[in-house]
Order: sequence, then C-alpha cells, then structure tokens
Amino acid sequence: MLTIKNLTHVYGNGTRALDDVSLTVPKGMFGLLGPNGAGKSTLMRSIATLQTPTSGTIQFGDIDVISAPDKLRRVLGYLPQDFGVYPRVSCYDMLNHMAVLKGIADGHERKATIESLLNQTNLWSVRKKALAGFSGGMRQRFGIAQALIGNPELIIVDEPTAGLDPEERNRFLNLLAEIGENVVIILSTHIVEDVSDLCPRMAVLAGGKIQLQGAPVELMQSLDGRVWRKLIARDALEDHKARYNVIATRLFTGKTVIHVLSDTAPGDGFEPVPGGLEDVYMASVNTARLAA
Ligand code: ADP
Repeated sequence: MLTIKNLTHVYGNGTRALDDVSLTVPKGMFGLLGPNGAGKSTLMRSIATLQTPTSGTIQFGDIDVISAPDKLRRVLGYLPQDFGVYPRVSCYDMLNHMAVLKGIADGHERKATIESLLNQTNLWSVRKKALAGFSGGMRQRFGIAQALIGNPELIIVDEPTAGLDPEERNRFLNLLAEIGENVVIILSTHIVEDVSDLCPRMAVLAGGKIQLQGAPVELMQSLDGRVWRKLIARDALEDHKARYNVIATRLFTGKTVIHVLSDTAPGDGFEPVPGGLEDVYMASVNTARLAA
C-alpha cells in the first residue's frame, strides 16, 4: 500500500504543482486521471524519488520514501513520460545494461530475466533491432520491459498511451493488465478510457489537488439521476453553457450532444442518462476550474 499525506510541491518559479495531496493506493491497478498541467508528472516523479516535495509524506509499506529514497528505488519500476533519447543500441543490449544497473550481477539470471521480459512484452522478434528504429508502441513495450526488471513491487507509468494508435494502445493496456494484482501499479493519464478499461480504483487530480478518489463504479453511481442529455444545434452551445452546468459536449451527425449536471430535471428538452466515467471526470474538472 502506498500512502501519500499532505503532499505539496512548489517549483522555483512559484508554481504550486501539488497542493496538499493525500492519496491511498492499494495493490492492483490505480488510475490517476487529470488534464494537462494537473500535476500528474510532478506527483509521479515525487513518488519515484526523482524530486523531493516541498512538504508532506510518502510511505510505501514500511519505507519512508522521502527519507529513504534508496530503499524505494530497489522495489520501483518506473516508465517515465518520455525517455528522451533512443540510442542506436539494440533492445536486448539496453535491457542487459539496465539489468546490470538494477543489480542483477549473475549473467545466467540476467539472461533468463531479459528473455522472459522480451516474451512477455512481445519484443522477442525485434530484440536485436536498435531502439532508435522502434515505433511508439514498441517503445512503450520496451519501457514496460525495463520497468519490470527485478520484479518491482511499485510500478509507475506516466501517460503511457499518449501518441499510440488504437491497436498499439490495446496491446499496451493488455500488457499492463497482465502484470498482476500483487503489486501497486499507478497509471497516470488524461484519457478516461485508460482508467475505465483497467482500473478498479482511481483518483482525479486537477489544479494540483485531488478532486475525488474511489472505485469508478461507485463514482459513476454517485451521478445517478443527475446527468441530463440534449441534442442541440452547434450555435446554441454558448447559450446552454450560460444557463446550465454543461459537463460534456460531443459532436454527433453535425449536431452537438451535451451532458448537463443537475439535481433536478432541467426540462427544456433534456432527458436523463446514466452517468459515465467521462461525466464523473468532466464534472470534477469543471468544479476544480470554477474553484480556481
Ligand atoms: P501534468 O503531468 O499533469 O501535465 P505537471 O506535473 O507536468 O502536470 O505540471 C504541473 C504544473 O507544474 C504545470 O503548471 C507545469 O507548468 C508546472 N511545472 C512542471 N514542471 C515544472 C518545472 N520544472 N518548473 C516549473 N514549473 C513546472
């Protein structure tokens, strides 16, 4: 279990990227959902011990992450948002190099580890290819392979599906789903489907604050009877936004479908719809925006 309490991070230029964040993350897949600029990467890097927060505590099992970052690193697998440079060395050689860095000194053990990871991530056939020539999906699968070296107990994946086509994304999410329920996996993303497809627990981060956390199913139930839909002409959108709490808009055959949050029936041509995770997310991001 990962427990974060009152975590605040203020960058040198005064940006308060995290503001009193408290979060409890049990074993299994946990979705951290938030728009760009919400503070997700700042939070991921703080947990991964790459930066020290201004204040607050992070506890993983019996490890105090801020005072003992070395202990955390021994059980951590981290897939950053961007690796930056993709060198000309082969996939196999790079994994071998990283396994040495992670402390797998025995050659036979290293070979067995790497071969098993190459199979698991479906990279066996391209193991001798240079990483520089990998597609986005292959890079992300390589990212997971390197994160899994040494059987980590805490795995952090930061925006892993950004830029992947639907097939690559599916493959990648299936791979994450297979990792198992005995580790803590935090998936940070701005894509609602990543969370709804995979995560039994989630939180929404916006404006540096946790807006809500819980099980997606329960969060959706909390909107029961409060979401209303209407099909309107595109030029009627501004007028509706002024009159109602519009939480989602989507084009449909040239018209606009809007979802509105309201405890009572708005009338005016609205019909009730069950709330989806997109509604949960947009409603909380809207509330955060209004409060800012
Ligand atoms: P996300 O990953 O959700 O997009 P980030 O954690 O990257 O959010 O950023 C949160 C806020 O902190 C943004 O306003 C961003 O501009 C700011 N920020 C991120 N990194 C730095 C930095 N190194 N220095 C100053 N501000 C930063």
